[in-house]
Amino acid sequence: MKSRNLQINSKQEILILGAGPAGMSASFELHKAAKAAMIIEKNEYIGGLAATLQYGEFKTDIGPHRFFSHNKYLYDLIEDLLLERWIKVNRLTRFYINGKFFLYPIQLKDAFSNIGLHKTFKVAADYSFQKIKNILVGKKAESFEEQAVADFGRILAELNILNYTEKIWGLPCSEISPDWLKQRIEGLSVMEIIKKTLTSSKTKKGPKTLVEQFYYPDTGTNSIYEKMQERILTGGSIIHLKSYPVKIFHNNKKITEIIMNINGNDQIIIPDYVISSIPITEIINIMEPKAPDEVLKANKKLRYRSHISLFITLDKPSVFPDQWIYFPDKEIPFCRIMEPKNFSKKMSPLSRTSLVVEFFCWENDKIWNANKEELFDLSIKWLEKLNFIKEKEIIEGFIHKEKYAYPLYDLNYKDHLSILKNYLKQFKNLQCIGRAGSFKYNNQDHALEMGILAARNIIEGEKNNIEDVGTEQEYFEKGYIK
Ligand SMILES: Cc1cc2nc3c(=O)[nH]c(=O)nc-3n(C[C@H](O)[C@H](O)[C@H](O)COP(=O)(O)OP(=O)(O)OC[C@H]3O[C@@H](n4cnc5c(N)ncnc54)[C@H](O)[C@@H]3O)c2cc1C
Repeated sequence: MKSRNLQINSKQEILILGAGPAGMSASFELHKAAKAAMIIEKNEYIGGLAATLQYGEFKTDIGPHRFFSHNKYLYDLIEDLLLERWIKVNRLTRFYINGKFFLYPIQLKDAFSNIGLHKTFKVAADYSFQKIKNILVGKKAESFEEQAVADFGRILAELNILNYTEKIWGLPCSEISPDWLKQRIEGLSVMEIIKKTLTSSKTKKGPKTLVEQFYYPDTGTNSIYEKMQERILTGGSIIHLKSYPVKIFHNNKKITEIIMNINGNDQIIIPDYVISSIPITEIINIMEPKAPDEVLKANKKLRYRSHISLFITLDKPSVFPDQWIYFPDKEIPFCRIMEPKNFSKKMSPLSRTSLVVEFFCWENDKIWNANKEELFDLSIKWLEKLNFIKEKEIIEGFIHKEKYAYPLYDLNYKDHLSILKNYLKQFKNLQCIGRAGSFKYNNQDHALEMGILAARNIIEGEKNNIEDVGTEQEYFEKGYIK
């Protein structure tokens, strides 16, 4: 190996790239087994996409973060960290379509009173026609659009699924993989909604479903990861903020050393194991020797959708009762608005509140490059029209950008991704986990599970397949709080 004039850091047994939920849960699981790790994080803060940002007396998450899992282990783990700060929130979320607010998840009575009798019949006829067509033709859906129409009928799909999805992804639904629908809203069938409506009187006294309530850390989602941080630091782990890998050297199917920029200084780290939760595309780009051409080509084809939050602090105690509201209409420039105070009163001072206006965009498009004033101009006229705020109530605004917010499931993503994964799996001491790290549309629960399993693969030599996490394709809204 060529000699480089760099400081050689002492050998690091376990190196974790990224201090988001996946990286933090890996370090926490290692800590529980009395193993320390070095964690490298490019931001000035931990938590990744689940970070909580602080602006003066106001706090917010990066978009709404509702915790949900089928895994009791995760609830116990978080409860043990947060104790009484892990609160239950009564959920209220709505859609705004054509000047009307609809409850989300959809409730039949509410939806039908909003769309009227005539349209209700049209929806029912269209849905029945589609179900018969599915039986007769039985064609496998090849795009998100085909899947949504097959599941809901075209009229219902166009009412609140297709246009919102196109706004999130910036692509026509015919160019989006059906995987996304399967992962996000499988189980939300029209029959399920009807069944729920018919049985709702019986279930009133039963346990609340996670559709009606969810758990939340009372000072923001990142409290989970801050608590993990407190614990792991006591066990000798180190977190380097404002740090990132520059080159990853490999030899004989092993990661041998990494040039790491630690707070502005390049150092060589020699790890035994690497757990990476940073974008898989970034890992490929810094491999040395370089990845084969086929891999580099596939790498360029994978895209992430970016996200911008416009955070507005307000001199009024409340805006709306919802945690968040979706805006599928294309004429409205933003996708969603959340009010952090409706997750926990501690997110704003008592007499004031705040809103987060969310935009989805491509890195370097017009929205990405817009400054705060331009995003304000785009938003304010709608916020006033919706009767949410008056311009004079605004105290201040801030913007926050996330380049790698959503791994894009276009029609060919699986082919490209499998080329990357086949290449990376040869490295016996490297595990790629997390949302951007495994290019999987994960929520926190699956990011946490991946981190825990990756750590156990090291601690106990278990052979957990990280790829299996989240493959059950369950609808995230199911489940009960016991
Ligand atoms: C708008 C929005 C709303 C969401 N809502 C919910 C919700 O309601 N419920 C829910 O459970 N989940 C939600 N999520 C998803 C949740 O935030 C993610 O699933 C979770 O944060 C993924 O954790 P991760 O560790 O895999 O990735 P990340 O959170 O992305 O963490 C990766 C970390 O790696 C760091 N990193 C990246 N590149 C480098 C580099 N080169 N060097 C060093 N460090 C690097 C990043 O800064 C980051 O800290 C939402 C996400 C978004 C964007």
